[in-house]
Amino acid sequence: MNLERLINEFTELVAIESESGNELTFAKELKRRFEALGFTMSFDDAADHVPSNSGNLYGIRQGEPERRPIIFSCHMDTVTPGVGIKPQIKADRITSDGTTILASDDKAPIASLIEAIRSLDEENAELGTIELVFSVGEEVGMHGARHFDVSRLQGKTMFVLDSSGTPGKAIVQAPTAARIKATITGRAAHAGLQPEKGISAISVMSEAITAMPLLRIDQETTANVGTITGGSATNIVAEQCEATFEARSLQKDKLDRQVAAMVEALETACRKHDATLDYEVNTSYPPLLVSQDSPAVKLFKEAAESLGLTPTFSATGGGSDANIYAEKGLEVLIPACGMSDAHSVNEYILLDDLESLAQLVRAIITTA
Ligand SMILES: [Zn+2]
Repeated sequence: MNLERLINEFTELVAIESESGNELTFAKELKRRFEALGFTMSFDDAADHVPSNSGNLYGIRQGEPERRPIIFSCHMDTVTPGVGIKPQIKADRITSDGTTILASDDKAPIASLIEAIRSLDEENAELGTIELVFSVGEEVGMHGARHFDVSRLQGKTMFVLDSSGTPGKAIVQAPTAARIKATITGRAAHAGLQPEKGISAISVMSEAITAMPLLRIDQETTANVGTITGGSATNIVAEQCEATFEARSLQKDKLDRQVAAMVEALETACRKHDATLDYEVNTSYPPLLVSQDSPAVKLFKEAAESLGLTPTFSATGGGSDANIYAEKGLEVLIPACGMSDAHSVNEYILLDDLESLAQLVRAIITTA
């Protein structure tokens, strides 16, 4: 392991912009870098089907046939502002210059993968087959992962390297989420002359929202009203009002119950005031629940313990590519990758965490 080389790799990768939808330049650079490490790299046809100029990038390097093939997955896209990232190497951490994100989400794991494999090759280590899946559009709805054909994979055990937290931790549970878009139509009337002839869509929506269970529902479930718009002028009883909501839960049945309660609140208010309700519910991603005896958990534990780390497992509040791959039948685990304050201009990664992430990736490869 060469920390300086790892830091260089990381700072080079974050300087290549790859905001969601515009991953191609970065993807080509990754292809080149992993080909130099002996991987066969290819793009799928996701660019024709999802909002990105690049396909997902898949890589494989055959290894010892008696070892378990393992898959690493990272996303290539970043949130905004992710153009012109100038990484600042400080005493104990790397930050952006404060005007952009740092993109340690998700390039710290990618740099760590490169350093882990490169350093193992320098030691002529005998390794198993390694597969790589670099997705597009994760940050804007896991578009690439949804499109990716997992039947081309040789392995079944996948480490989705995409989570905050100190290396040694891992995520085994992630929620399912639903979005609701509701439009209430009342009746317009002159607010001063004949207000009794109107049905205020805004008032009806307010009543529905007031009656709705929202925010923290229980340990595993949350809900929120995100946006509300409606009406046209102060002197007109509002004919229309539109609101968007979300709900999340670690349990599918709890999510279903929560969504039903939200819809019920909307329906009740509309019925009472003779307004019309139109709504749609979209489930954004499936839940993730990894069993403690999954091969990914066992392998991760063994790898972490070999480095003297204490493996710990917890739940997260957001979805990622892992939710999608798990639903497609892969045995996934999301190791913590050290990234901190991701999705903000304050994002940083501690040098210690970057180093132990690369060591952990090495240990996962050699333990498999
Ligand atoms: Zn991420």
